[in-house]
Amino acid sequence: MNIVVLVKQVPDSGTERSLRADDKTVERDSASLVINEMDEYAIEEALKVKEAVGGTVTVLTMGPDKATESIRKALSMGPDGAVHVNDAALHGSDALATSKVLAKALEGLEWDLVIAGAESTDGRAAAMASMLSERLGVAGLTGARKLTVDGSKLTIERQLEDGYQVVEAQTPAIVSVWDTINEPRYPSFKGIMAAKKKPVDTKSLADLGVDASEVGLGAATSKVVDAAPRPPRQAGEKITDEGDGGSKLVAYLAAEKIV
Ligand SMILES: Cc1cc2nc3c(=O)[nH]c(=O)nc-3n(C[C@H](O)[C@H](O)[C@H](O)COP(=O)(O)OP(=O)(O)OC[C@H]3O[C@@H](n4cnc5c(N)ncnc54)[C@H](O)[C@@H]3O)c2cc1C
Repeated sequence: MNIVVLVKQVPDSGTERSLRADDKTVERDSASLVINEMDEYAIEEALKVKEAVGGTVTVLTMGPDKATESIRKALSMGPDGAVHVNDAALHGSDALATSKVLAKALEGLEWDLVIAGAESTDGRAAAMASMLSERLGVAGLTGARKLTVDGSKLTIERQLEDGYQVVEAQTPAIVSVWDTINEPRYPSFKGIMAAKKKPVDTKSLADLGVDASEVGLGAATSKVVDAAPRPPRQAGEKITDEGDGGSKLVAYLAAEKIV
């Protein structure tokens, strides 16, 4: 089974994140950049399927030059190679344009299954898997906490707030996964060394047959027009117990409509 894993490079959610002053897009130049956390689970799931039934695992990323670091990190976990869509015109692309480009890249690859993270920590649209399944005319199975592959039949347990749904489809299909699906492996030293030699196929928009006017900030259907920094946190209210601490606490909680 040939599997493509979508991997997005995002600013580390453990650090302070910001927007660029000029065009209000996410600040990526100075940010500490990592693989979107959910995508590591997607890579792990793809490797597990490959180990069970054979085939290949290819990483697909759309992003600037710096995204190469995340591609190498992804490859060090075990995938066979990567496709990197990199073009200056992509800056500021929204989810619709991103799905257009990723769909074109997928059309140029041979695959049975695409695995993505359920959402990215910067955009949080949680829409990419659905948009791609619509564009490519294949089944889209979103939010998996379990994936079973039986020949060409895919079955997922689709995580809900209060339980799960069982959803089935035939390949080719696109599956998005939550972080409840597995425990991603750590890259071994051997894996890190091997990743340096794995093929990374870089594609421009022209290679994919996408016109620059269809992507980027100019074509975005939604834009951040203004942003203000979060106000500093106010000091909390301190209650001194002078024998009446309990009633003071209850009065405070009642005033805040907590009780
Ligand atoms: C602060 C902020 C500012 C924004 N500014 C703008 C703006 O100015 N204009 C605008 O139109 N939109 C803007 N967006 C929206 C955002 O850029 C898009 O929604 C995003 O690029 C695509 O969707 P997503 O990353 O949310 O995908 P999701 O659907 O959340 O991601 C799901 C999965 O899709 C895959 N995936 C997503 N993107 C890629 C990729 N590039 N390469 C490979 N795999 C990928 C990953 O596997 C990911 O786990 C902004 C968002 C934020 C948070």
